[in-house]
Amino acid sequence: MKTYNIACIPGDGIGQEVIPAGQTVLAALAAKSTEFRFDFHSFDWGGDYYRRHGVMMPADGLDALRPMDAILFGSAGDPDIPDHITLWGLRLKICQGFDQYANVRPTRILPGIDAPLKRCTPAQLDWVIVRENSEGEYAGVGGRAHQGHPIEVATDVSMMTRVGVQRIMRYAFKLAQSRPRKLLTVVTKSNAQRHAMVMWDEIAKEISAEFPDVHWDKELVDACTARMVNRPASLDTVVATNLHADILSDLAAALAGSLGIAPTGNIDPERRYPSMFEPIHGSAFDIMGQGLANPIGTFWSCVMLLEHIGLTAPAKQLMQAIEAVTADPQLHTRDLGGPAGTAQVTEAVCQQLHNK
Ligand code: NAD
Ligand code: MN
Repeated sequence: MKTYNIACIPGDGIGQEVIPAGQTVLAALAAKSTEFRFDFHSFDWGGDYYRRHGVMMPADGLDALRPMDAILFGSAGDPDIPDHITLWGLRLKICQGFDQYANVRPTRILPGIDAPLKRCTPAQLDWVIVRENSEGEYAGVGGRAHQGHPIEVATDVSMMTRVGVQRIMRYAFKLAQSRPRKLLTVVTKSNAQRHAMVMWDEIAKEISAEFPDVHWDKELVDACTARMVNRPASLDTVVATNLHADILSDLAAALAGSLGIAPTGNIDPERRYPSMFEPIHGSAFDIMGQGLANPIGTFWSCVMLLEHIGLTAPAKQLMQAIEAVTADPQLHTRDLGGPAGTAQVTEAVCQQLHNK
């Protein structure tokens, strides 16, 4: 019996509701198996921790996570603490500390979900957005001076490195190659941003030579939003910078039905460190503490986690259970227009796993 150590960081807001739900579902999956089990290690980092200790996570927090097989993360974001403190103090600390440079965001319209695009069948929307997760617009480089004075100045500098762009392009081309359509769209903005984005384009072209069987094209990020809406089937794998992909993937989630469904993995492809899986949504202050949070984004993130640690068959089982549940509109949460709550959806997925 192999034991996998999973770190659980619920964080703030509905993270505290969906992460326990994710643990419940993973435990239900393991309960049926004689081959693997999970040891969950919970960390109470986030806004409440900040109120007690003045930091979002302890200084040696990464050391506690390093031996884990994977991390399941909820959300960082508290109504009373500025967003840049919660984000940089926890989630980005882990992503950057563990050099999880590939942020992978699959999008599909799951069975039973009423997605907003009228002329799009579920089969026509099947994307994976690869987000550069270590540099670019979120490199943290910049500064602010003369605060409050008329001469106040502030900069956020987007940093792109050759190594950083090469490795994300290689990851994206490889991922595109592994998918049936072998199709990659490189998102850019090299018309207006004439330094780093031009290097981005050049490196994409260089790396493409390593993948002659992958068809690829280039799209400006603004045009890409329109293409996602008007010609969803023309996209498959998409690679974009940290900021561009952040925005495109929220659009993708909405086009697939709800922000509450969408999963993501912050991956260290070289496996030097544990990778981190999380729903793409945030703390959802408007519904927190009410049992209304859609846990499907977390469950799908668990599927990605299982795939990453090599539990391919259980990952498939869980995805099938999720799809069986979304197929029933009575089991939809309010964000999908349904009557169910977090607990009911969680119970239904466990029931599906149990019946398999
Ligand atoms: P949000 O994702 O928290 O909420 C946006 C809207 O979607 C809200 O109306 C919310 O109710 C709804 N929603 C989101 N997830 C849902 C779910 N699972 N089920 C049902 N409805 C859901 O985004 P926001 O309002 O921009 O941000 C709130 C806080 O979360 C901010 O502090 C922000 O910084 C933080 N945040 C954190 C992360 C992260 O840690 N990865 C990501 C995004 C936002
Ligand atoms: Mn985002």
